[in-house]
Amino acid sequence: YFNSNTVLYLNGQFQKATDTTADIYGQSLHYGYAVFEGIRAYHTHNGTRVFKAREHYERLKRSAELVHIPFPWDVNDLIKQTYKLLEINNLKNAYIRPLIYCAPNMSLIGGTKPSIMICAWEWGAYLGHEQLKVCISSYERPNPKSTQIEAKVSGNYVNSILATTEAKSKGFDEALLLDMNQNVAEAPGANVFIEKNGKLFTPPLGNILPGITRATVIELCHILEIEVIEKHLTVADLKHADSAFFCGTASEIAGIACIDEYQFPSRWIDSIGATIQRTYKCLVLEKQNYEVII
Ligand code: PMP
Repeated sequence: YFNSNTVLYLNGQFQKATDTTADIYGQSLHYGYAVFEGIRAYHTHNGTRVFKAREHYERLKRSAELVHIPFPWDVNDLIKQTYKLLEINNLKNAYIRPLIYCAPNMSLIGGTKPSIMICAWEWGAYLGHEQLKVCISSYERPNPKSTQIEAKVSGNYVNSILATTEAKSKGFDEALLLDMNQNVAEAPGANVFIEKNGKLFTPPLGNILPGITRATVIELCHILEIEVIEKHLTVADLKHADSAFFCGTASEIAGIACIDEYQFPSRWIDSIGATIQRTYKCLVLEKQNYEVII
């Protein structure tokens, strides 16, 4: 992720990653009381472009507000600093990781003075890889009544680590988690869509992270005149589907081969997911522009 030349952004300054220190006595490290984002930049015909930069920084702001971490920064300025960071590090296809963490304080009272750090590393698109072998996790997503599920809070990701570690230990590529009502929720770091009879279905907002890629897929469906229905899905719905895919900033559009023992009957190449995958690739690599995406 970094080497001796890597520069990161910290509270208004650009500095070497290797010269940066972090506070040991803080709520972020001890309790996971921090919020973050995962953003991608692509090398397009118009140079390097940060995909949906505004949406990501607006979600960062909302995440902070939902857990009472102050957000004294200007979204436009953070976007500007992100482009500068990419330029300083000479990055073209990159993953960008902003993190808001708190000053030393070991109490359980929120609202501690925050810092913002943004780092980035070269990470090419890996669209078009093999379809994933997925298992239903024995872990559920956190109950929205026990945490802020719509905020990208660091502490929520222990749940993601447990689910992915379990899936890998059983020989699967990734997990799919249910919500507290046993409806399909999401993957540890991606949202999910299924295809049935020429339509797409995805769980509604409420018990999932409001994914920016999920919103993009819905936008693309409207443009491509593909019907997309947001509704609660059961495991039985999944296991009667024609095809399925995950979507997220990091995973982009990733086809699913099977869930547990159930193999999807459609060939990935013939699925709606494959059409969305091609269109998404075109969107991020070609048609993207700074303010107006489509
Ligand atoms: N769900 C979870 C739990 C995630 O961590 C992510 C990645 N941020 C997503 C869904 C997908 O969100 P996005 O498309 O905004 O990357």
